[in-house]
Amino acid sequence: MQLMFTRPVIKTPSGLSAASVTTTIYNDNGFRTILPKLYTNHIETIFCPEPEQSLYCQLLFGLIQRDEVVMLGSLFASTVLRGLKYLESHWQEMCSDIKTGQISHRITDSGCRNAATSIMKPNPQLANLIESLCNCKSWEGIVRKLWPKARYVGCICTGVMRQYTAELEFYCGGLPLVSTAYACSEAACGINLEPLCKPSDVTYTLLPNLAYFEFLPMKNGHAEPIEMRSNIEDIEPVDLVHVKPGHRYELLVTTCAGLYRYKVGDVLMVTGFHNNAPQFQFVERQNVAISVDQEKTSEADLFKAVTEAKALLDPLGFVLTDYTSYADTSSTPGHYVLFWELKEKEGNHCKEVDPKVMVECCSRMEESLQYTYKVYRKNNIIAALEIRVVEQGSFEALMDYYVSKGASLSQYKRPSCITSKEALKIIDSRVIGKFFSPKSPV
Ligand code: AMP
Repeated sequence: MQLMFTRPVIKTPSGLSAASVTTTIYNDNGFRTILPKLYTNHIETIFCPEPEQSLYCQLLFGLIQRDEVVMLGSLFASTVLRGLKYLESHWQEMCSDIKTGQISHRITDSGCRNAATSIMKPNPQLANLIESLCNCKSWEGIVRKLWPKARYVGCICTGVMRQYTAELEFYCGGLPLVSTAYACSEAACGINLEPLCKPSDVTYTLLPNLAYFEFLPMKNGHAEPIEMRSNIEDIEPVDLVHVKPGHRYELLVTTCAGLYRYKVGDVLMVTGFHNNAPQFQFVERQNVAISVDQEKTSEADLFKAVTEAKALLDPLGFVLTDYTSYADTSSTPGHYVLFWELKEKEGNHCKEVDPKVMVECCSRMEESLQYTYKVYRKNNIIAALEIRVVEQGSFEALMDYYVSKGASLSQYKRPSCITSKEALKIIDSRVIGKFFSPKSPV
C-alpha cells in the first residue's frame, strides 16, 4: 500500500513535456502493468487531479485489501503521516463506504468512482472490524492493527524528514521504518544496504552506474558551521573514489539527460565503505535555512536547536509534530520566528503548555544556535527569538497551499523557512500563542 500522487504534465514554451519525476514513473507503461499485481492502488486514483480525493480512495482501497498489505508507505515520511492523520479524521466515513459498498459523495472524480466500483462490494463484517480498531482512545500502534501483515513502513525518514519519525513510530507500534533510497529529480543516487537500521543511522551507498557523481568538499572537511563556509566556487570537485570518511561534501551530478556538474543542493557526509563504494549520511540541504543579518543558520543548525528545546516538552506529555521558521524583518532589529505545532502524547487535543516552559524553549533554542547568532543577539543586532504555537492541522493547511500552487503531494517537503507571503498568512492566521526568549544567550 503505497500512497502515490501525480501532478499534471505541462508543456514548456518550446513545446517539451515537463512533469515531476514521480509522475513520469507512474506514467510509464511498465509501472502501469505491475501496479495491479503489486499495489492496492488503482491507476485512476493515482492520477486523480484532486489530491484529497486521491488520498481518500488510496486509504479506502488499502483498508479494503488490508489482508494483502505487507508494506505500507510513500516516498517521504511526511506523506505517510499525512495519510494516517487523514484516516484518523475520516475512518467513520470510510467504514460506512465499506459497509454499503458505495463510495462517499465527497468523491466526485469519475476515475476514482470507476475504480471504486471495480473493487467495492458491501462488506459489513470488515467495516465493523475496522470500526472497532479505529474507535479507540489512542491511535498508538494503529498501523499494526489495521494492516496486521505489514512488515515495515517504507518512506524516507532522513534529512528534513527525520522530524516526523517520532510521530510515525507512535502510529506504527514497532514496525520498522525503512528509508530505502536517496534520489532526486536530477538523478537516482543511492540505496540503503541496511534497511532495518534505525532511521538516525541510515547511510546510502551511491551507485556509480546511476549518474556520474562528484563532490565539492566543504571547508575543513566536517562539522563546519554554515557561517564559516568559504566560497565553494573556488574548490575543485573530487570523484566518488576520492572522498574521505568523516568529510562533508556537496553533491554534483552529471547525467545522460544532459546535466553537467549540476549542484543538487545536498550536503552528504562519508561514513564508511561497502566494499570500495563510499557510503554517505544525508546531512542537510546546502542553502541557508534562515538569516536576518550576517549570521547564517542552516537546516541542520535549526533542527539541532529545535531538538534541544523540544526536549523540555517531553516530561509534560507534549510532542512537537511539525515546525518551520520565518525571518521577521518587519521591524528592526529582525528576529527568528519559529512556528510549532504541538500535540499531547495521549489523544489528539492540545491543552495549553505552561507559558513558562514555552519561554524556556525559546531560550534553549537560542542557546544552541551558532556563535554569530549569539553575538548578534547580545549586541541587539537580532531581537529575541519567538515561538508561535499554531493550532493542530496548520501544517496540513500549509501543505495544501503548496500542493495547490503546484507542488506534488508525493514529493512535498515542508520548507525549513517560509518566504512566501501567502504561506506566511496561512500559518500566521492559526497562531494560538506567542512566546519570546527573555534574555540573550550566554
Ligand atoms: P525532489 O527532486 O524535489 O523530489 O527532491 C529531491 C531532494 O529530496 C533531494 O535533493 C534531497 O534534498 C531530498 N531527499 C531525497 N531523498 C532523500 C533521502 N533519502 N534522505 C534525505 N533527503 C532526501
